[in-house]
Amino acid sequence: MTPFIAKMIVIAGAIAWFVIRLPHQRRSWKTKTVRNERSARELFLLYGCSFMGLGIIPFVYVATGWPKFAERPFIPAIAWLGAAVFAVSLYLFYRVHRELGRNWSDSLEVREKHVLVTHGLYAHVRHPMYSAFFLWALAQALLLPNWFAGLAGLVGFGLLFFFRVGHEERMMLEAFGDEYRAYMARTARIIPGIY
Ligand code: SAH
Repeated sequence: MTPFIAKMIVIAGAIAWFVIRLPHQRRSWKTKTVRNERSARELFLLYGCSFMGLGIIPFVYVATGWPKFAERPFIPAIAWLGAAVFAVSLYLFYRVHRELGRNWSDSLEVREKHVLVTHGLYAHVRHPMYSAFFLWALAQALLLPNWFAGLAGLVGFGLLFFFRVGHEERMMLEAFGDEYRAYMARTARIIPGIY
């Protein structure tokens, strides 16, 4: 493993993520929404934090080497671990999108005929898609030999997660009531059995 290959894995991973998401994104544009919480704050978290940290900043780093002052030594074993974590995250993304199906949206929305999904990965944690995003962000930190570009994903997605998750759970409680309350009582948020 070389720094160049590690950087290419980050770019290839982002493209693979986009390809996995594309058919779901297309369907979601056509699916009717009955409740929309896509506020300015939500859009800032989505684009200004998450997309910036997982997309723009690592892309600029790979393309230009900026910011040079934040370079750290490249350790091949750490980068290999990053590649493995990235593979797991993409697998989880693929599964979670299939399990959530037409109920998915990139922001906070309740769909017409929304169904509460509690099977598959959703039987273990309430937010497996966010677990997958955290693994992606962790992979980025392990693969990119730069403190700023490497950690940007964890900071950017971390902000989205911590400012969104309580809001999302309140929305789901209002939509599904006791069904979601019981579901919350038997599941963790993103790490099975821990958090
Ligand atoms: N937080 C979930 C889903 C992310 S997508 C995860 O990390 O896997 C966000 C949308 O998914 C929200 O608009 C919400 O309406 C929907 N959602 C969240 N949990 C759900 C569930 N268990 N079943 C069905 N829809 C869900």
